[in-house]
Amino acid sequence: MQKRSGWIQKSKKDIQEIFRFCEEYKSFLDRSKTERETARYIREHLAENGFSEDCSGERVFRVNKGKEVAAYRRGAKGPAEGLRIIVAHIDAPRLDLKQNPVYEDVDLALLRTHYYGGIKKYQWVAIPLALHGVVIKADGATVEIAIGESDDDPVFLIDDLLPHLSRKVQDEKKLSEAIEGEKLIVLFGNIPLAGAEKDAVKQSALNILKDRYGISEEDFVSAELEIVPAFKARDVGIDRSMIGAYGQDDRASAFTLLKAICDGEAPKQSCLALFTDKEEVGSEGNTSVRSNFLQLFLYDVLTAMGVKADEATIRKALFNSKALSADVNGAVNPTFQDVHEKQNACYLGRGICISKFTGHLGKSGASDASAEYVGEIRRLFDRAGVIWQTGEMGKVDEGGGGTVAKFLASYGMDIIDCGAPLLTMHSPYEISGKIDIYETYHAFQVFFRS
Ligand code: MN
Ligand code: MN
Repeated sequence: MQKRSGWIQKSKKDIQEIFRFCEEYKSFLDRSKTERETARYIREHLAENGFSEDCSGERVFRVNKGKEVAAYRRGAKGPAEGLRIIVAHIDAPRLDLKQNPVYEDVDLALLRTHYYGGIKKYQWVAIPLALHGVVIKADGATVEIAIGESDDDPVFLIDDLLPHLSRKVQDEKKLSEAIEGEKLIVLFGNIPLAGAEKDAVKQSALNILKDRYGISEEDFVSAELEIVPAFKARDVGIDRSMIGAYGQDDRASAFTLLKAICDGEAPKQSCLALFTDKEEVGSEGNTSVRSNFLQLFLYDVLTAMGVKADEATIRKALFNSKALSADVNGAVNPTFQDVHEKQNACYLGRGICISKFTGHLGKSGASDASAEYVGEIRRLFDRAGVIWQTGEMGKVDEGGGGTVAKFLASYGMDIIDCGAPLLTMHSPYEISGKIDIYETYHAFQVFFRS
């Protein structure tokens, strides 16, 4: 039953192709640090590949509030007979600025944050950070901000205590309490405004924002500004077999899905790619997989094809669909192997990982694919030579996690979780295996062509 590294099955030429594919993946990651930037990249790539917002076409897409994208490819069979659906999420753990973030203390301008998603707070101090997002000004105008990505940009940082002084207030505490949420405060400036009596450093920093972006302190109220790692995606390992980058959960799936929906001949079944938001906070809200966006998009596609798209038709189409919930999984950690049950864990380099079920503590909150559907996916991948492995997240009762699968499963469709294994998952610099990224793309292509 033990699977082996996928690399040994690859020729020199295959490996060249894998590396070439991953160069594009890295440039996607560098341009996609937020859900909005990812949605924009996806939209541009879809448009370059013949997708339009005209629902009567063979290739259709729609963007929901700049944060979620659906892309549809018409197959020989109409959507009413059921679709091939793959869903990935494009949000990632990060620090959001609070709505009243700026203050001054000890001659420093500082920004308060509220973290988004599951982070280990101690990983976010003393690393270079970038500021990305949008500000809606009092007059309704939108200002886009991205500071910290180009080499001559400044970056931002959260101070950590020097070891000389941290023994009592940090070192003897539990790791999860050594850096508290309210202490994730970003350094923003240090030069005081000449002649100002109060908060001179804060005033000076705000003046720069006013001059450069035309925004005032009040405008933060209607802003979505995200603090993300300023690192670029880079090869990892002497053999360049891995990629280090922020946000690979779940942009590893989003990129491979984007490529798979664009590439190849017209499919037999109609195909749908959904790039959704807010997965990291439980899929709540109007850009999450639980909003009505998907049904409304399908309604418009069916209507444009001349199909009477009442609620029953759409429900039947979704019920008859087959789906992949594309999300990454935690690969066996070399130094904390005890949290895994290694006979049922996934490993870096062994290809896309299929998880029959998710959830935690007795499969609570799980989406559990049927044996029949697992059998179907297994046959499909084997016939096409996809390199795949199975894996569940951690030992029984060790922890676990959920994905969007259960929300789509509630429509009655068959759905199974699958995605690339990652090391350092949910950290500011996640590690993927290049072969696993490539095989994820391969698997999605095969699924859409089935
Ligand atoms: Mn995920
Ligand atoms: Mn996640």
